[in-house]
Amino acid sequence: MKTFLRLLRLALPFRSQMALAVGLGFLTVGSSVGLLATSAYLISAAALHPSIAELQVAIVGVRFFGISRGVFRYLERLVSHNATFRLLGHLRVWFYRALEPLAPARLARYKTGDLHARIVNDIETLETFFLRVLAPPVVAVLTAAAMGLLAWTFHPLLGVAVAVLLVGAGVGLVGVTYGLQRHTGPNLVRSRSQLRSLLVDSVGGIADLTAFGATRRLFDRVRTASLRVAGAQRRANLSEAVENSLGVLAANGAAWVVLLLALRLADQEVFEPLYLAALTLATLASFEAVLPLPQAAHSLNENLEAGSRLFEIVDSEPAVVDPPEPLPAPRGEKLDVQNLTFSYDRDLPPALDGISFSISRNTSLAVVGPSGAGKSTLVNLLLRFWDVPPATVYLDGQDIRRYRQEDVRRCFGVVSARSHVFNLTVRENLLLARPVATEGELEQACRLAEIHEFIRSLPQGYDTLLGETGRPLSGGERQRLILARALLRGSPILLLDEPTANLDALTEQRILQTLHRLQGQRGLLLITHRMVGLETFDQIIVLDRGRVVERGTHSELIRLRGMYWRMWRLQHEILEAA
Ligand code: ADP
Repeated sequence: MKTFLRLLRLALPFRSQMALAVGLGFLTVGSSVGLLATSAYLISAAALHPSIAELQVAIVGVRFFGISRGVFRYLERLVSHNATFRLLGHLRVWFYRALEPLAPARLARYKTGDLHARIVNDIETLETFFLRVLAPPVVAVLTAAAMGLLAWTFHPLLGVAVAVLLVGAGVGLVGVTYGLQRHTGPNLVRSRSQLRSLLVDSVGGIADLTAFGATRRLFDRVRTASLRVAGAQRRANLSEAVENSLGVLAANGAAWVVLLLALRLADQEVFEPLYLAALTLATLASFEAVLPLPQAAHSLNENLEAGSRLFEIVDSEPAVVDPPEPLPAPRGEKLDVQNLTFSYDRDLPPALDGISFSISRNTSLAVVGPSGAGKSTLVNLLLRFWDVPPATVYLDGQDIRRYRQEDVRRCFGVVSARSHVFNLTVRENLLLARPVATEGELEQACRLAEIHEFIRSLPQGYDTLLGETGRPLSGGERQRLILARALLRGSPILLLDEPTANLDALTEQRILQTLHRLQGQRGLLLITHRMVGLETFDQIIVLDRGRVVERGTHSELIRLRGMYWRMWRLQHEILEAA
């Protein structure tokens, strides 16, 4: 019930369009009833050989209802679909807004395919919320009331009978559907989502699966998941077929009941037999409003399942919440980390343990350490993806918890091996960092990152399409582009998170040379497990299992002959051997 009310609240902004669509839906059913009733009356009356003038009104009625039925149906579709698509757009924005603050800390526990299924399918399922769930019962109730009143004018007993038959059929059909589909609906949504998760995962890893010859096993898993979807679909179809037949049976049964009742009343001479056919066929036609009810019950199940899956994400508490009264945005002149200890969970050992360092606009700091040392954790904390304990990280002398997250992030230009190149043009990819940047600023950032010449050499220059469907970039070109994007942002501190991971030694060297040239212009915070190109850094801190084990310049650390020296020697031996 709670999910239903929440869905209702989401649809609230579209209530006037929905009310209009319901009104038009009611008029459509009304026209069908009118068409059949006037036609039946016309034939019955004509059988008595009256003058043509007496039939004129009925003839006009048939024409009118014949046309109005089509017009109302068309308008109803137009208005309801318009409302539906607007609702869909509204839902997508609503969900994305809720999703963004959760990334990446709170989304880590969902699989990509699962998230994808929620964003695409569950939202699309909700598209039917108004069209198939909300509107049909309202139209059915209005129709039952109007038909009851209409039949009442012939005889009160008929009025009561028609209303009871319509309401009873509606409630009965919904009850049957609910019983039949209580499990099939959610099963179908769940099995489809599982299949999609599996497909997204396997398409992503197709190269590895082929290389390991594991495609057979994958096919089997996909086949099993598909069979599960097909089974759920078959059960859903079967129940739908039963409901449809029951609907037709109910409509015809009701028409018979009304006919027999009216015949009796005609025998007692309290009902004019001329209207027998009209009333019977009007009852039959009015079931047009009741027949979509099983579908409504079925869609309701699906909508509730999809809704609760979306609300589950929307209701997650973001890992970091902005303070109620944030300080004005920091300029990022100085970053101080003081005795920072952090663990992802109370039960886990700290990923960072008593770390301290500081960096300003024109100094450079490298944080090195083996895998699992806590380097990515440091990045996650600085970028406010996870929350830091109070009084541990300061920007311009104030605790970063007192700023808005967005303002903190603006102080860092991030270059990471995981940074994404979007399926957009070079220019658009760059402008993501600063949409208002001028052409001159764009080119200057690319020159600094030493990629301007390369971009110019592309056939379409800055308008070349990149990403999935665009021009592929080499590892080095990609990282330079990402560097240019970070520079364009104009942030005082460049946060370089393993910027040369996955690059060959020569390309790495060149990127590092570019970075050296930036030293003194920007604060540089390089996070890496590679001991190359660190000679020029003002300070290096060596992390191991969350603790700072050594700190100093490259030459000091080499002289120390500790962990840094061992890692440096090992990597250089490997490089030389290569
Ligand atoms: P590095 O980047 O130096 O390889 P990380 O910062 O990724 O190291 O990891 C530091 C420690 O924190 C590791 O023990 C790792 O297992 C743990 N860790 C990293 N991310 C998470 C997370 N999201 N949840 C729980 N533990 C995590």
